[in-house]
Amino acid sequence: MTELHGRTFSCIDGCALCCLCQPELLSHERRVFQGDPKLSAGVASTHMSPDVNGAALRLVGGHGACYFLDGRRCGVYEHRPHFCRSFPLNVFVGWRVQLNVNMSCRGLGRPGERLVRLGEMLLSEYGEVQLGHELSSANDSFTRFESNAREERVAQSFSSVRHTAEMLKDELTDGIGLSRVMTHAEYGQANQDSPPADIARLVRETEAEADISERALMDGVELFDLPNLSLLPIYVGPDLSWKIFRLEGSSIVARSIDDSGEALEFCRIDPASVNLLPMTASGRRSLQGYLATLNARDCLLGHAAYLCDIEGYEFNFGQVYLGTLANSVIDLWWRASLLAQLAGVEQLGQEEIKEGIVFFDMDILDLPTIGSFI
Ligand code: SF4
Ligand code: SF4
Repeated sequence: MTELHGRTFSCIDGCALCCLCQPELLSHERRVFQGDPKLSAGVASTHMSPDVNGAALRLVGGHGACYFLDGRRCGVYEHRPHFCRSFPLNVFVGWRVQLNVNMSCRGLGRPGERLVRLGEMLLSEYGEVQLGHELSSANDSFTRFESNAREERVAQSFSSVRHTAEMLKDELTDGIGLSRVMTHAEYGQANQDSPPADIARLVRETEAEADISERALMDGVELFDLPNLSLLPIYVGPDLSWKIFRLEGSSIVARSIDDSGEALEFCRIDPASVNLLPMTASGRRSLQGYLATLNARDCLLGHAAYLCDIEGYEFNFGQVYLGTLANSVIDLWWRASLLAQLAGVEQLGQEEIKEGIVFFDMDILDLPTIGSFI
């Protein structure tokens, strides 16, 4: 529960960001919802994401908020599904059970409940038997991954890749450094089980060939290039407005979504005009703090392991992991720059990085991974 320590939370009336994320229904919840005429009207047979199996709650207009949201308040509060009850916490089961906090939630840091207490309650709802069962099947995936990586001579221990990323925290939050990390991730030839200090040295000696601005632009454009509005990332602004961005032709069209699911255009941006803005010292410190959170998340290691696996164990796991962290930072930096440019701000301080995190974190917690969120 390291990520939860010392943090408090209280929900913000009128936010409802988590009501835009289409809660899945667990099998016993589906039975309750489908057996009640008032509740069954809000059930969709499939989730908007093809990766999620089973029933979910319906979204107004197919991309707005939950069918049951009424005046930005839950109309079925006593029956709300497990997904809604546990937000902003996620339980990830990999080689151990770890709790993560969804940092897109603006209620974090407000006086209120201690997250550790909420986490304990959530874990006790599962109970030891279910957690043990989940753990044993997730453990198998991690064991298989390790054995495959070792066989292909690309293994690096989880503790060593984390240690390397910690040593490279300055490089991972700076344009030239990110370019070195990306070049190393794609062309480096680290040996299996290299010591962290050797990998960090290799990265620092790598020519900075990768064009970070171009990567950021390509990834940013791809992020918003989706046909279905419901699949686009959602950003809830400090004023609790809901915003989505979609690539249409050569422009990014920014829309706000209202409570009836209407998506109203409020501006168009040329993606090429979004530059990675310079960070102030406090902005960079905030980014490094967030990087440390990412580096401690088991689900991110699981995501890098998933990538290593689908790429056929071509690259050393340490390279894949550093590439994953570098891509995450570039994505967040680009999103923070987009929001700052819309607000007429020319550099990224602590506040602007925080907005980037609010926009980004729920998406990184949604990436495919070995192990699973339960
Ligand atoms: S995202 Fe957080 S603050 Fe917003 S409604 Fe959900 S729990 Fe409340
Ligand atoms: S059931 Fe209630 S809390 Fe859950 S998404 Fe719908 S409106 Fe929000």
